[in-house]
Amino acid sequence: MARVNKLLEVTSQVASMVNTSTEGALDKICDYLKPALNCNVVSVYAVAENSFTLIANTGFKKSHVNNLSLKKGRGLVNHIVATGKTLCLSEATAHLAFYYVHGLGEEKYHGFIGTPIYKQKEIIGVLIFQFLKKHDSSIDDIALIETISHLISGYVDKPQAEPEVTNVDSKISARGVVQGFFKGSVIKRLMMEDGSPEAMQPGLGYEIEKERFDEAFEKSKSFLKELKEKAVNREAGDILGAHLMMMQDPKLLEKVDGHLQQNSSAEQAVTKATNEIADMFKSISDEYMQLRAADVIDVGRRLYSTLCPKSSEEESDSQTKVVCVANRMPPTVLIEEGPSKFGALVLVEENVYSHNIILAKSMGIPTVIISSDQLMSLFEVDELFVDGELGLIVPNPSPIWVEEYTRSHHTTEESSFNHLGKCKTKGGVELVLGMNGGFQKDVENLPDWIPEIGLFRTEFQFFTSAKLPTEEQLTENYTKILSAVKGRPVTLRILDAGADKQPPCLHFVREENPVLGDRSIRFLLKDSEVIFTQLRAMLRAQQATNGNLKILIPMVTVYEEVSRIRDHIIKVLRDLRREGLAIKRPPIGAMIEVPSSINLIPKLASMVDFFCVGTNDLLQYYVAADRTNSLVQHLYQWCHPTFLLTLKGICRSCEEVNRPVSICGEMAGEMWGSLVLTGLGFRVLSMDRQAIARHHELIAQVNLRPLEKLVAKIVQVNTALEVLEQLQLFLEKWNLPQDLEDVLQSELNNLMYPS
Ligand code: PEP
Ligand code: MG
Repeated sequence: MARVNKLLEVTSQVASMVNTSTEGALDKICDYLKPALNCNVVSVYAVAENSFTLIANTGFKKSHVNNLSLKKGRGLVNHIVATGKTLCLSEATAHLAFYYVHGLGEEKYHGFIGTPIYKQKEIIGVLIFQFLKKHDSSIDDIALIETISHLISGYVDKPQAEPEVTNVDSKISARGVVQGFFKGSVIKRLMMEDGSPEAMQPGLGYEIEKERFDEAFEKSKSFLKELKEKAVNREAGDILGAHLMMMQDPKLLEKVDGHLQQNSSAEQAVTKATNEIADMFKSISDEYMQLRAADVIDVGRRLYSTLCPKSSEEESDSQTKVVCVANRMPPTVLIEEGPSKFGALVLVEENVYSHNIILAKSMGIPTVIISSDQLMSLFEVDELFVDGELGLIVPNPSPIWVEEYTRSHHTTEESSFNHLGKCKTKGGVELVLGMNGGFQKDVENLPDWIPEIGLFRTEFQFFTSAKLPTEEQLTENYTKILSAVKGRPVTLRILDAGADKQPPCLHFVREENPVLGDRSIRFLLKDSEVIFTQLRAMLRAQQATNGNLKILIPMVTVYEEVSRIRDHIIKVLRDLRREGLAIKRPPIGAMIEVPSSINLIPKLASMVDFFCVGTNDLLQYYVAADRTNSLVQHLYQWCHPTFLLTLKGICRSCEEVNRPVSICGEMAGEMWGSLVLTGLGFRVLSMDRQAIARHHELIAQVNLRPLEKLVAKIVQVNTALEVLEQLQLFLEKWNLPQDLEDVLQSELNNLMYPS
């Protein structure tokens, strides 16, 4: 903004205006400063008893002057007064103290510098410069604003009368993970966490809590009875009947009563009692008992949500979509209710790479992540507005604000990208941007510019049925998928269940550490029936459609896993041929997502036709940080320089053995992720459907050479933060369209401050 000469020129001009002007001096100074400093808004606020009043401004509507009043206790102006310091923000809307004032259109301003105006050591006002673009302030900028604030202090008086406080829509900065926005009433799917506010709060005494529990118990009982009567089929009726019995089990009621007597709240008593009984069931390694554990947890959840105000049950009849605020939500909830019921998701302490997020992406449900602290501020909220791209939550938004926001942030329909051809860099280097899917619906009406399904997660079909899907059901499903894509390659991944994806029909036993346990092909190779059924279905679908099937092996850890699965495929092909179905062997690929598989690449190359890197799991095992655990999210970041170096090594190894390699982890679907991967040498990326068009736009704005140079730098530095700093520098030198720059900046902010 200002160099030293400029600084002197501006301050001397302001000083002379201060000395010579009388009427409207502050307004004149603001009018002068806006072009002189190349900023877009200059404002002066005066501090009143209960509020801050705008007393001079250039940039907003003039009618706001002396009429706009902000309540004390919120917003950036308040933050400056509270700290007594100059505040410089490259992206103001990302600051936690930022509050949106409707009518001002402030969210379009990004860069921000504000400083207190002191008179005799007391803060009497605030001077603010705002910029349309992000703005990094220099020492000169700070010196300038502080000098000007000193010069104008004589003109800042307490407002005569405090205007009525302007209606301010509070904004919560969340982490945006699935784009799109939605406004709706709130339902909660909350389980009490250890250490959460409800868990810490003692009960209100035995009598009161017992009465609360009894009431919830009766309500839940009649609700379950009613549901049972309306059950769509016998199986559903049986399950609900079993839940009813469990809820009335004297042992459970005894345990609840015991906890209530020890001064627990009704919520605590229900949680503790159901967990204790579930643990008892889980400790018996018997399939039936494992299932009972899941049932008892469900019963607990129902009682708990009936106890909480605005429980899910109260609103479950509603046809209108809602915003679901949830913690520790099992993927089953999303699979059952997600697409029809949830217009947006606010997930508490969820990891960005969890399967819930992957599912939300595939279902196109706008999603943000918040912290437990932020959850507190949503307890009394009826309605929420959620923007999953910018990570914005507005509790109880005013209709006028929603209208304005929706108008200025319209979403683009997929059909408007029909002009897209192949994805190319500015210099014409081609990339293949494939798509990740998991449901049949994901691959319907695929536009021409999506060239392939780079990863189809087959496990979600197993979640939707109580019994194992039959060969016929799987064949029908895969046939639909292969025909829907009209000849484009489809990489069907062999069932990758376990860890955080445990379909009930597979009856996983409880393990201390399931992420390192019996999951994916480790589990399948013990039970040949499921894998044979699945392979037969895949190959029969290929035969029926004359499709372009590729089979992908997940969680490859050792050589013999691949050789055994390859033998299985060959056996199934032979069996099918004997049955009269002549099918060519489809390409077989191995996932590189366990570190031990990296050095196996040269050996595996003789058995597979392609490799596919699963960065989600690879990172989890590389940094030894559970991808679903928000406590270690600071470690679970792809931008560790050595992780990037590892990816580079994988790319090189695949090149050396002449096998194509793609990336299908979530990193490929992030804007910075795809740029870095391109610079590392990867040319085939697979991501969720909604991200593809945006990536086309981004890649067309960049040449390969600068990306390679950037990557050469970031693999050399010591820390993830240094990597991010390099990315920030790269962004600053890059002349991008504003909307792309905003998305890249917001992604970078999320990477820098992951929690
Ligand atoms: C991965 O691990 O990167 C991957 C694509 O598989 P999933 O996320 O389904 O584990
Ligand atoms: Mg994986």
